[in-house]
Amino acid sequence: MASSRDTLKSYREKRDPRCTPEPMGDGRQADRPRFVIQQHAASTLHYDLRLEVDGVLKSWAVPKGPSTDPRIKRLAVPTEDHPLAYADFEGVIPEGEYGAGTVLIWDRGHYRNLKEGDERSSVAEQLEDGHATVWLEGEKLRGGYALIRTDLAQGKDWLLVKMDDEGADARRNPTSTEPESVVTGRTLAEISREAGRDEA
Ligand code: MN
Repeated sequence: MASSRDTLKSYREKRDPRCTPEPMGDGRQADRPRFVIQQHAASTLHYDLRLEVDGVLKSWAVPKGPSTDPRIKRLAVPTEDHPLAYADFEGVIPEGEYGAGTVLIWDRGHYRNLKEGDERSSVAEQLEDGHATVWLEGEKLRGGYALIRTDLAQGKDWLLVKMDDEGADARRNPTSTEPESVVTGRTLAEISREAGRDEA
């Protein structure tokens, strides 16, 4: 297995620590694996889902964000592994830098592997096999989610689907009704405004 240092190479090559406030280090190892969903107003607005797996944050860009309705499948495009410390990043990536735009911590917490104990059951193995199921314990999201690799786009597209459990709710639309950061209570606009004020 590659060390977290190796798998973060692509992440580091895209960023200059002198130009962007994003973390470069590995971050602390948590006792339970963490997840975070960051809303990211880059060239297009999207949500980044990140799961702590083997010392890094496995990451997917989810254009429409997660749904709580099990009938809705959301496209999730894998992106490069991020360091664990990235789960705490909220702020503004400067103009001209990779991923330039505002990042808001939309939800975070811990997650549980729903296939623990099965054959090829670690989350890393499930992801290699293209089908992982995890239980998210967040502040906004709670319950099982499946990540499923599709045959489309040479297997580069995944789907994020809510599992049918007590956390499922077809009427809830948390990306619309609960837009604020779970850490600071700020909106994207407030985060950008405050970053602009700091520079002034
Ligand atoms: Mn992003």
